[in-house]
Parts: sequence; structure tokens; C-alpha cells
Amino acid sequence: MGWLDGQVAIVTGAASGIGKTAAETFVAEGARVLLADIDNDGIGALIGQLGHNYADGAVTDIRDESAVQDMVAQAVRRFGRLDIAFNNAGIGGFSPIQNYPLADFERVVGICLTGTFLCIKHEAAAFIAQRRGGSVINIASLNAIQATEGFAAYCSAKAGVAMLTKVAALELGRHGIRVNAIGPGLIHTPATAGMTALPGLEDAFIQEAPIGRAGEPEDVAKLATYLASDDASLMTGQTLYIDGGASLKKYPELFRFFGT
Ligand code: NAD
Repeated sequence: MGWLDGQVAIVTGAASGIGKTAAETFVAEGARVLLADIDNDGIGALIGQLGHNYADGAVTDIRDESAVQDMVAQAVRRFGRLDIAFNNAGIGGFSPIQNYPLADFERVVGICLTGTFLCIKHEAAAFIAQRRGGSVINIASLNAIQATEGFAAYCSAKAGVAMLTKVAALELGRHGIRVNAIGPGLIHTPATAGMTALPGLEDAFIQEAPIGRAGEPEDVAKLATYLASDDASLMTGQTLYIDGGASLKKYPELFRFFGT
């Protein structure tokens, strides 16, 4: 018996990092998954690994509303239902505010916040039509509550995801839909490889984390699996920070590490 037997999940940003590991974990727990990403090759490789009976793919830019609508429709058409939405796709960005190019700021907010909104909007519509409830899990960040030098767009977008999670939970609870978020600290993925390669940066993060380590995608995937499952049936509107306790202290001074 798996934790998610018979359930169907959408995973955005499924071709890499946390999304890829979450998709693998959901399938290991008995779910079938629709893998959504802009990375067609990455989706194809993961379908090959998980098997066509358990995984399907949709090339989706979550900033594109009609593509997001198609993604949700494809999950329901292919697997007959939708139970879980893991809205994980996101990107980072670094710049001092006084030099932050508008297009770069809008790209981060457009993917992390507006893209997450579009996913929730169309997933909620599908859940409501099914009349069976559902579980939405958004990926926020430790940076939703911890200000970080150079991360004006990212911190703002992720704080927005945490509040969007609360509003969506407030509105959708009457339909049996739970909406939660996860706020990871520093997790080893391709997205953070550049940061953790900067001499001393990971050590500086770990010094501010009482548990004394950075995270792995599996740490986040296990929490997502719990939130997706019926064991979390009373849990909604929350952002759970999985960061080794780093949120209790402060983020490393990135201007120093980036030589700004
Ligand atoms: P990653 O770069 O390994 O994976 C992100 C995936 O999202 C990639 O496959 C990418 O192609 C996809 N993607 C990017 N833009 C997209 C778009 N417009 N539409 C659809 N897919 C898109 O990154 P990751 O570290 O696994 O991060 C996943 C999520 O976790 C992000 O939202 C990130 O902000 C968040 N997060 C990561 C960390 C960390 O330390 N790694 C910490 C906190 C939060």
C-alpha cells in the first residue's frame, strides 16, 4: 500500500530538482503523474524512467494561461481524475535593487507568483467540477519570510506565494480543497549549484541552520507527499518551512559572496 494509491498528481517544474524528485516519490507511493515543464527533453527522460502507465508529459510554460488550462485538461483526460497539484516551477534571480532590470524582475515574479496563480486557478476549477476536493501544494521559500540581499524579486514573489496560499485556502475550503505551501531552505538542486559553488556560501548557510545541513530534494518531496495525502486532511492555508531551522536566524550576506 502506497500513501497515494490511485491518486493523480500534476507536478510543475518536473524535469529537474525538487519537482523531479517529488514526481518520483509520488509514483513510488502509488500515484500517476502529469509532468509539466518547459524542458521537453527532461520530461521525456523522466517518463522513460517512470513508465508510460504512471507518467505523462505536458510541455507547459506556467506563464501561459491557455497552456496551463491544457495541462490540467490533459491530466484529467489521460488519467481520469485529478487529486494533487504540486505547483513547484520557479526560478531565482540576483541583482541589487538599484540595478535590477525591469524585465528580469518581472520574469521572476511572472514565473514564481503569477504562474503559480494560473496553476491554482485552473486546478481549482477542475477540482470543483469533480466535486471530490483536492490538495494543492505550492512551493514558496525560506525567502518568503527571510529578506536576502539581491533577492528583491524572488523574496517578494515567494512572500506572495505564501499569502496566495492563504487566500486560496480560505476560498476553496468550502469545496474540500486544501491549499498549503512548502518553504524550503537551501536545497541541493541544479538551480543552487552556482550558489553553493561560491566559496564559503554553503558553510555560511549551515552556520545559521541549527540542524547543521543544507537539504536534499527528498526532504521536500517527503513533506509534499504528506501534504498531498489524506493524513493531512485538517491542514490548509499553511506554509511549512523545511530549512534545518534557518528561518530562526538570518540569511547569509549575499553581497559579500557575490562580490557586490
Ligand atoms: P530547478 O531549476 O532544478 O528546477 C526548476 C524546474 O522548473 C526546471 O525543470 C525548469 O525547466 C522549470 N521551469 C522554469 N521555468 C518554468 C516555467 N515558466 N514553466 C514551467 N516550468 C518551468 O530548481 P529547484 O531548485 O528544484 O526549484 C524548484 C522550486 O523550489 C522553485 O520554485 C524554487 O524557487 C523553489 N525553491 C528552491 C530552493 C532550493 O534551494 N533549491 C529553495 C527554496 C525554494
